[in-house]
Amino acid sequence: MSLSVDLPPLPIPAERVKGFLDPAEGEALARAAIATAPLGPALEIGTYCGRSALYIGTACKAAGSVLFAVDHHRGSEENQPGWEWHDASLWDAEAGAMDTLPHLRRTLRLARLEETVIPVVGRSATLARHWGRPLGLVFIDGGHGREEAHTDYRAWARHVAEGGVLAIHDVFPDPADGGRPPYEIYGLALASGLFVERGAVKSLRLLERI
Ligand code: SAH
Ligand code: MG
Repeated sequence: MSLSVDLPPLPIPAERVKGFLDPAEGEALARAAIATAPLGPALEIGTYCGRSALYIGTACKAAGSVLFAVDHHRGSEENQPGWEWHDASLWDAEAGAMDTLPHLRRTLRLARLEETVIPVVGRSATLARHWGRPLGLVFIDGGHGREEAHTDYRAWARHVAEGGVLAIHDVFPDPADGGRPPYEIYGLALASGLFVERGAVKSLRLLERI
């Protein structure tokens, strides 16, 4: 797998999309998406307003592939009112809940990615139970609680095609930098013997399914 391919330019600046992804991480994901497109579509867990989908989707479009963008759009624990990463502008008063789906749709429309990125609105574990297609790239960036992160790993790692990439965000080797579950599942993937590390950019880890 080559992670040094040229990237198509983003159709809109990533800073215009609310989100939690660093540009260097976005570019690494885009390279992985292009390199693995021949093996199957890409899928991400945790789309929020579409920043990572902008990077991965633009790469998929150039490679003639698609991205399934999975999110229930009600926010993770840390996005809820009173928590550190709450954004009050994403609150749906009638629902009494977060709603990031309209923001994602806006991102996809502005970036002309509506034919490439397929939003799947629901809980990732529920979708995984009905999923059958091998995937070129799986990006785990959903709930950071122990139960959710481990469930995402168990449910989705097995859908990565041979030669495909499992990408995990918010992997912090030093507990002082952030929560443990993404780091734990990264460790499980390496310990399984099924994945080898192919790249590390900030808190992103790229693991190839061997
Ligand atoms: N990748 C995004 C950030 C994702 S934030 C970016 O680039 O900015 C994490 C997202 O995961 C939130 O939008 C939350 O709604 C979603 N999420 C958390 N747990 C989930 C679950 N079990 N199923 C589906 N989505 C989930
Ligand atoms: Mg993240």
